[in-house]
Parts: sequence; C-alpha cells; structure tokens
Amino acid sequence: MLKNDMLEQWDRDNFFHPSTHLAEFARGNAPQRVIKTGHGSTIVDRDGTELLDGFAGLYCVNVGYGRQEIAEAIAAQAKELAYYHAYVGHGTEASITLSKMVLDRAPDHMSKVYFGQSGSDANETNIKLVWYYNNILGRPEKKKIISRWRGYHGSGLMTGSLTGLELFHKKFDLPLAQVIHTEAPYYYRRPDAEMTEAQFTAHCVAALEELIEKEGADTIAAFIGEPVLGTGGIVPPPAGYWQAIQEVLDKHDILLIADEVVTGFGRLGSMFGSQHYGLKPDLITIAKGLTSAYAPLSGSIVSEKMWKVLEQGTDENGPIGHGWTYSAHPIGAAAGVANLKLLDDLKLIENAASVGAHLNACMKDALGDHPNVGEIRGEGMLCAVELVQDRGSRTFYEKPGTASYPIIAEMLKAGVIARAMPQGDILGFAPPFCLTREEAERIVSVTADAVKATL
Ligand code: PLP
Repeated sequence: MLKNDMLEQWDRDNFFHPSTHLAEFARGNAPQRVIKTGHGSTIVDRDGTELLDGFAGLYCVNVGYGRQEIAEAIAAQAKELAYYHAYVGHGTEASITLSKMVLDRAPDHMSKVYFGQSGSDANETNIKLVWYYNNILGRPEKKKIISRWRGYHGSGLMTGSLTGLELFHKKFDLPLAQVIHTEAPYYYRRPDAEMTEAQFTAHCVAALEELIEKEGADTIAAFIGEPVLGTGGIVPPPAGYWQAIQEVLDKHDILLIADEVVTGFGRLGSMFGSQHYGLKPDLITIAKGLTSAYAPLSGSIVSEKMWKVLEQGTDENGPIGHGWTYSAHPIGAAAGVANLKLLDDLKLIENAASVGAHLNACMKDALGDHPNVGEIRGEGMLCAVELVQDRGSRTFYEKPGTASYPIIAEMLKAGVIARAMPQGDILGFAPPFCLTREEAERIVSVTADAVKATL
C-alpha cells in the first residue's frame, strides 16, 4: 500500500480537482482527504477515520454506501457485457429494463427516457430537444430558456448558463445569450420583510410574467427549475408557487423542464418532486438517485406531447442527431436496476420521509432560537440551516462562508459531514435515505455544538 504522504504529493502534483481553490490546494491549505471505503451512511478515509456523511456524497448516494447488491449487479454486467452502444436501436437487458422501471415511477403523461451520463449532459439533451421540438413545429424564434437565480443545472456551457450562481459564470463568459434568469423562490430572502408567503409567491409570478412580456412569449421556449432549489441553498418553494408558475407557462405555451437530479427517486419522500408538488413537466432530468452514484448514469424523461413531435421530426429529417458513446451504458443501467429495486425492497423512500422529518424537527428544536440562525428549512431528506449575522434584522454576513466554513470544519473534527452551500452561509444536509433516527440526532447535536462553539 502507498504511504499517505506519497499519495498526497501525487495528488497535489497531478490531480485537477473540480470546484476547488487550486492555489490553496497547491499550497497545502485546502482539505485533502483520501476516501477508502464506506458503509451505510458512513465513509472511512485511508487513516481509518469514520465520518457520518450528512450530504450523501453530493446528495447522490441515496441507498447508502457499501451495497453489495449493486456491486454484484455491476460485476455481473461487466463480466457478461461491459459495453455496447445504444445507437440505432441497440439495447441491453439492463437498459431496457431500467427504462421500464423509470417510466413506471414517473408521472403518467411521461413517455420515454433518453439515457446520458451526468446531470449536466441530461440538461444539455433537454435544451437540444426543446429547440428541435420548436423547429419541427415551425417556430424557430421560440428558443430562449428561463432559469432562476440560484438554480443549479450543471456546469457545461449551456447548463452552466442555466445555473444561476455567480461562481459558475465568473470568468467563463457565461451565461450564453439564450438564457435569461428570473427571481429565486426564496421566501427567507424576500425583498420586503412584511411580505406574507402568498404575497411573495405572487411577487415571483409577477416577475416571471414581466420577463415574458419584455422578451415576448414567442421567443421563449422553456422554463427550467428544480422542485426544491438545491445547491442554491436548499430552499423549498413558497406555498402555491409551482401551481402558479405552471399556469403562467401553460398560458404562454412555454415548456417546463423539471430538473429532478436531486429530488428524483425519493429525496423529498415522494418518488419525484413533480408528484410532490403536482407539476406537469414536459421533460424531467434525472441523475444522482437513478443509480445512487454507484455508476454514472443520467436521463431525460420525455412527455408524450414532446415525443410525438420528435417522431414527426425524424420522419422529416432522418435519425435524431444526438447521442453519447456512453448513452445507456450497460454498467450504469445494471446499477440503476439494482438501485431502484433496493429502494423498493428496503422501503428507503418511506425512511427518507420519516427520518428526514425527524432530522428537520430535531434541528429546529436544537437551533431554532439561536440568534445567528435565521431559518431552518427542509423537505423530505433535505435540511438547511441559514446563518445570519443578526436574526432580528435578517442581516447576512458580508462575505459568504464567514460563518458556514468554520462550522463545517468544526463538525468534521467531530466526525460529521455537512456542506457549506456555495452562495451564502447555509449549512446543507442531504443524508443517505438509510439514515437512522439516532444518526439524525447525532448530526443535529454535532451541528448545534459547532454552531454554539463558533458563533
Ligand atoms: N441539476 C441539478 C439539480 C444538480 O443538483 C446537479 C448537480 O449537483 C446537476 C444538474 C448536474 O449534475 P452533474 O454534476 O451530474 O453534471
């Protein structure tokens, strides 16, 4: 076995880590941790340190670590057939079975699933399908995409543009011109403290209507949104938000893309966020929870309404010119089938709902009155603690991360991982669905201790 110090040197010398402060990393000032194994909700590093993972990797290891059923399905698939492509009608038992399992769980009006590798490429696929759809319908001007500030939809050229977080635009010349952003449905950060939740929903809807009016509905193709804002701060929508937004989109013939990369397959305690909030999307983006990250696989679930037009398009233009070498990769598909079975067999979505509610309730009990805690919010197995300089006046820290970074560092020392969400001072929690009530309580007590010790 390699000595840790050698690995750490190789790491600094050779490895370009995503979303990392490169200069601090090179200077040895950024965290460096080599993860070796995991079980349940816990990961273990090479030194044998156990950490309770309050964020399930990047909210993706939903069934928990060390699931032999999935590992064995992957191994069996690799032995039988590691790869064949899915172009021009090819499939494997695993990819065809998974497509059926996905559609069985999706809202009834959805028709087909296109498989990719990551959430980002699935959203790229979605935008291409939306543009293709409007071209086939003879409305080439209808191309702009509305996204929300604080939305996260990936970090490609188009998806990084859809993402409404400054960090993902800065110095990359994004967003691209076809993308326009509207208000984040973030009630805690409402512009006027006196606004009720219903008034804030009306304010977000009015902002959307205004934007559509200004740009012209005949230039706008689609609206993309996460049912619950994830990376932008873990923010469930204000009451009535999705119903009102859907009405505006329907009125202007604007397609809805529900980005369910985080919320799909149970994180809210329902199979999809679309079902949870009664949405009727034209496209649903899936990734993370599709395989619980045991292998990279994503998907775009397409509605029957869009599917008919796509079919018409290929009659007029020949085969659809969109494919990835690894679309429906057999190993990813085998992992997906085993993962979705495990979710059912172990009733993990039910567990996510009940333990997630316990986590949120305990967090409120422990920290709800703290003078630097502005809000504790969540849905299903998602929870966020928003830290503020002053609770009464809702004064935020001037420099984002002022409060959250020291707290997550303190929590790590106590063996619990939380995520400092990238824009603001927000502690994010999105544990695996197999989390026990005792583990939820431990997350809460370590968080409370760290908040009290730090602020
Ligand atoms: N969409 C949402 C809602 C996400 O949270 C993410 C990743 O966190 C993505 C898309 C992008 O997925 P990926 O990182 O697999 O490209």
